[in-house]
Amino acid sequence: MGGPAGLEAARVAATKGHEVTLFEKQNYLGGQLNIASVPPRKIEIRRSIEDLTQACIQAGVQIQQGREADTDSILSLSPDTVIVATGANSFMPPIVGIDDSGVCDAWKVLAGEQKVTGRVVIIGGGIVGCETAEYLAEQGCQVAIVEMSEEVGAGIGITVLPSVLETYRRYGVTQHPGLKVTRIEPNHFQEAQEQEAQKSQQSSHEINIVCKDQQSNIVPFVADFAVIASGARPQIFDSSDLLAQGIEVIEVGDCVKVADISHAIKTAYDAANSI
Ligand SMILES: Cc1cc2nc3c(=O)[nH]c(=O)nc-3n(C[C@H](O)[C@H](O)[C@H](O)COP(=O)(O)OP(=O)(O)OC[C@H]3O[C@@H](n4cnc5c(N)ncnc54)[C@H](O)[C@@H]3O)c2cc1C
Repeated sequence: MGGPAGLEAARVAATKGHEVTLFEKQNYLGGQLNIASVPPRKIEIRRSIEDLTQACIQAGVQIQQGREADTDSILSLSPDTVIVATGANSFMPPIVGIDDSGVCDAWKVLAGEQKVTGRVVIIGGGIVGCETAEYLAEQGCQVAIVEMSEEVGAGIGITVLPSVLETYRRYGVTQHPGLKVTRIEPNHFQEAQEQEAQKSQQSSHEINIVCKDQQSNIVPFVADFAVIASGARPQIFDSSDLLAQGIEVIEVGDCVKVADISHAIKTAYDAANSI
């Protein structure tokens, strides 16, 4: 699997003289690094995809892009060891109304798969939510961040935080900690206007993002889009058939614990060195 953990594990194992095949289900390598590199100041992350890929090629790794690893494809290679580095997927929380057409996923927005404009409420003020807010503010969106805990941007390094806050100040990004989103619904008042707009060929769809504060007061936001940035969950790979056949299986990176690039690289390096 060709995220940073899979690429690093493949590089180290091949450098040690093992015959290594890397499966990547997408037609491109890099995993989450492809979206991690999109927000402001982060373009350099792209270079690490190129560096890791080149190092794998030089070490003789057989890279199979556009090929999903499953039990059959793995067993066809008769491996001694399988390093699983399936990474993580974004998490969509079970909020009423999350299926509304105005609700997007921050990962898909950063990947350019979903387009948002106008007034945007980011649901989740962790690192990904805060970086998506910066990215969208620079694209001309009017952005508000809603965060359940007491702090927006917890986990952003103190050297980076001033730049983030400066971007927020420049573009008027507002921060709303201590609010839990309870439901998302179409703005019914707006619906009548939408019908009129459709008659005149304009499209518009307003949504209400209904939150509760810590005293259970209702705090509503009206927006054109809500963008979910509520964290990630490991992508589980079922290794039971491989283990039953006596094949060694080692899991590395975000599929073990959603963390960061250094965790992905370190767990991959250690795993490849251990075989
Ligand atoms: C928006 C965003 C910003 C981030 N910014 C930072 C940052 O600034 N600093 C930092 O340290 N970390 C950052 N991270 C986290 C970091 O990108 C991840 O921790 C890291 O990419 C995890 O690496 P991984 O290889 O374990 O998983 P991934 O990067 O998720 O890679 C897994 C790969 O496996 C492939 N795959 C999955 N299943 C299969 C299968 N069955 N067959 C074949 N291929 C498969 C996937 O397509 C993917 O390419 C960010 C993450 C996001 C989403």
